[in-house]
Amino acid sequence: MSYDFRLISGRAPTFAEPLPVGQLYFPQWPRYVAAMRGIFDRHYYTNHGPLVQKLEEELARFLKVKHVICVTNATIGLMMVADALRLTGKVIVPSYTFVATAQSLKWCGLTPVFCDIDPESQQIDIDAAALLIDQEVSAILAVNLWGDACDTGALQALADANGISLYFDSAHAFGVAIENVPIAGFGRAEVFSFHATKVLSAGEGGCVTTNDDNVAARLRNIRSSYGAGPTVPVVKTSNGRMSEAQAAIALMSLDDYPSIQARNKALFDAYSQNLAVIPGIRLLHPKNVSASNYQYATCTIEPVEFGLARDQLLQLLEAENILARRYFYPGTHRSAGFDGNAEAVAARLPMTERICDISFQLPLGARLDVSDVEKICALIARAQREAPQISQFMARDGVCE
Ligand SMILES: *Cc1c(COP(=O)(O)O)cnc(C)c1O
Repeated sequence: MSYDFRLISGRAPTFAEPLPVGQLYFPQWPRYVAAMRGIFDRHYYTNHGPLVQKLEEELARFLKVKHVICVTNATIGLMMVADALRLTGKVIVPSYTFVATAQSLKWCGLTPVFCDIDPESQQIDIDAAALLIDQEVSAILAVNLWGDACDTGALQALADANGISLYFDSAHAFGVAIENVPIAGFGRAEVFSFHATKVLSAGEGGCVTTNDDNVAARLRNIRSSYGAGPTVPVVKTSNGRMSEAQAAIALMSLDDYPSIQARNKALFDAYSQNLAVIPGIRLLHPKNVSASNYQYATCTIEPVEFGLARDQLLQLLEAENILARRYFYPGTHRSAGFDGNAEAVAARLPMTERICDISFQLPLGARLDVSDVEKICALIARAQREAPQISQFMARDGVCE
């Protein structure tokens, strides 16, 4: 008989329902019904309809950026930008990101060159990026992670000095600002995700932002094979259109953003306070920004100090219905399709390798309140105190790989 992890907290799991890590915004039902009725009344489902246009205007105001091009998801937005910027050859990109970042390059026939991260902020390591630039590199695709941001000024200086493009995967950075300048207008373009797990939700969705008129015009033509706006020459067209139903949800989510952000901040602060006293656990705080969405509670664990490895802790939490996750694992350079030369690439990504082994996400979003966070932290504290016994059980029953 294997060790019952629930012994740590009693017989039943601490949470009756699984607690996911994602944001999972749902507008109030009557508002949703009214929005869908509007779509029915207008008999207009898609093709750059009134709700998409309204969303683009409201986002441009909110993000203080000249152009917003709404798309059906961020992955296609990233593909469209690579094409609109006419990139060639190689693109420098962190490995420590969601796999879609590098996949977008593959779809465009570009070769990702994986770059290490700064272990403190987990953002791209700019000195490491500088060493990877050669004649074939046409761009840096940086990622603004965890409601924090890269050092955009230093990255722009590096790109300018080498005559290459800089653009951003800002899927984690909606509502984030650097010295009160919103993430959206940095580099040649930025891409946001409005996936259901993100802080601004369209169910599925995203947008590209840019202050460059030419890039915006090309993106509007690439987005749809019958465009929206003046026709400009582009190499390929696609279907990256956002539907009216997606835009309706995004508009409600944008309306509710201040309260969503405030709730996230309250949960994040509760994690911060309660995790601070647990040896071997560190919560990552946004540090390069003047405003954050607090979309994620990302932690690192020091196994020796804590007494358990990351995956042992995650197993314990899962038994309590806390679906904590090792988000970016095992790193894009070790993921299917990119793993051809993994060991050689890994040798120049020591911080990525290390963070992939010790990082995890705790639940944060609409399904939790502060008392839930306190319960989660109490369980983690108990796991730390009882780590020797737990380790022994796990080793004896061979339940932990
Ligand atoms: C979510 C996410 C994406 C992909 O967004 P989709 O809208 O699901 O295509 C890309 N990059 C990062 C860093 C993400 O977190």
